[in-house]
Amino acid sequence: MRVGVLALQGAFIEHVQMLARLGVQPVEVRLPEHLEGLNGLIIPGGESTTMGLLAQKRGLLQPIRDFVGSGRPLWGTCAGMILMAREILDGVPGQPALELMDIAVRRNAFGRQVDSFEADLVVPALGEIPFHAVFIRAPVIERVGAGVQILASLEDGTAVAVQQGHLLATAFHPELTRDERFHRYFLELTK
Ligand code: GLN
Repeated sequence: MRVGVLALQGAFIEHVQMLARLGVQPVEVRLPEHLEGLNGLIIPGGESTTMGLLAQKRGLLQPIRDFVGSGRPLWGTCAGMILMAREILDGVPGQPALELMDIAVRRNAFGRQVDSFEADLVVPALGEIPFHAVFIRAPVIERVGAGVQILASLEDGTAVAVQQGHLLATAFHPELTRDERFHRYFLELTK
């Protein structure tokens, strides 16, 4: 099994290492041809405006949409989730994005008092043990479409992990912990 990690910018190395620990062959994706033969793709955290611009420059946006259109799963963490969202609130006007998932996200919305924080999330899809989630200048999911399933929310009800068929998005960074359950969950979607 080969799983790609978009490696233009941001925290891609941690995803690569996690995939390798799980016995999957990680592939750093920098050009459209790197998508060939992959079973899935992860878009890491970072800076969504920069990553979107780089992806556009390398001609990767449409190939990634086609990749998803062919039924292969895509997971975005944090900035990756922003790039997947159909609607970006507080984004930079004209910010290039994939617009694949029926959610609206607001960038840096936790900002103000708490830029970054950690929380133990109840994630029924992953079992009983809470998932320790690291949020770094995270986006907030403000709207989810009818076909989108909420996998986890904060105590105040804010959705932070969502799934729409073979699309997965998390506002936080599972690759920065030792907990492999979200990565395993994603790998299940490749089957
Ligand atoms: N604030 C970043 C953005 O808007 C996302 C932060 C992250 O990926 N950790 O793109």
